[in-house]
Amino acid sequence: MIRGTKNKKTVLVTGGGGFLGSHLCKALLDCGNHVVCIDNFISGRLSNIEPLKKNPDFDLLIHDVTEPYNFYVDEIFNLACPASPIFYQRDPIATYKTTVLGAINALDLALKWNAKIFQASTSEVYGDALVHPQPENYWGNVNPHGIRSCYDEGKRGAESLFFDYRRKHGTDIKVARIFNTYGPNMNVDDGRVVSNFIIQALQNRDITVYGDGKQTRSFCYVDDLVRGMMLLMDSGNGVTGPVNLGNPGEFTMLELAEKVLKLTCSKSKIIFMPLPDDDPKMRRPDITLAGKLLGWRPEIPLDEGLKLTVEYFKGIL
Ligand code: UDP
Repeated sequence: MIRGTKNKKTVLVTGGGGFLGSHLCKALLDCGNHVVCIDNFISGRLSNIEPLKKNPDFDLLIHDVTEPYNFYVDEIFNLACPASPIFYQRDPIATYKTTVLGAINALDLALKWNAKIFQASTSEVYGDALVHPQPENYWGNVNPHGIRSCYDEGKRGAESLFFDYRRKHGTDIKVARIFNTYGPNMNVDDGRVVSNFIIQALQNRDITVYGDGKQTRSFCYVDDLVRGMMLLMDSGNGVTGPVNLGNPGEFTMLELAEKVLKLTCSKSKIIFMPLPDDDPKMRRPDITLAGKLLGWRPEIPLDEGLKLTVEYFKGIL
């Protein structure tokens, strides 16, 4: 049962056991909120939130967000969904249901309690972008029936639901498009490039670069991202987004591999493997809007964030 806490905001984080969610739950508790975390631990991990469980203002509900739930909330952060390609492609139908039904259940709860609701949308809504860097008014280039579609189209569907609740019911929505983010609490078997390269380097195993390694991504350290998410949630009712949140520093996967090799003093060799289908060729957020609306921009450069992430993985390997 969820306890109400007098004089505190009750903030729900769906997917609170995941990489981003666990950092967000901690930051919200640090700000004096009552935090309810919902997770079914498909890709999240109990160990991520273990340190939070002793906090009397923290509640955990093990639940699948595709099934409705009901308790009082002031604010909702809707994050629940496996987010790494290997995780979300493992059960693509479940991924699609989580994005769409999960959004409907969270929006219905917001409607019931007149709560503010934040959607963790994604740079994947831009697909294999033909406009670079990607501004929010770019509609994207998404394959509607490829192996990434369960996630990309699911998240696009969720965005459309958020804006329809806004138009039909006046729901106070906040939609963030989150670009590649990294840091402590990523799963060891997450399969994403930063965690793969660091773990491979620490174990002196081959670094697996997919394709020719010239594709680019822009990596945001998790603390910067969480700060942006909270600023967006605290913005006025007129601010709905979508707003890009990410670090505009852009690197090829080969550059990332070199950085990780150097930082870890690893003996690993770089090997090349086939590029997965529909892998976007370049990605960099245009964060002008986040700067204007929220006064936000990331502060932690890739080298610094990688150092912190390497320390984390050294500790758990
Ligand atoms: N990638 C890679 N080696 C890996 C894992 C990923 O070269 O071991 C590449 C992947 O093909 C993509 C980029 O790194 O071009 C980022 O992949 P990730 O899965 O981290 O995120 P996303 O593709 O969703 O941005």
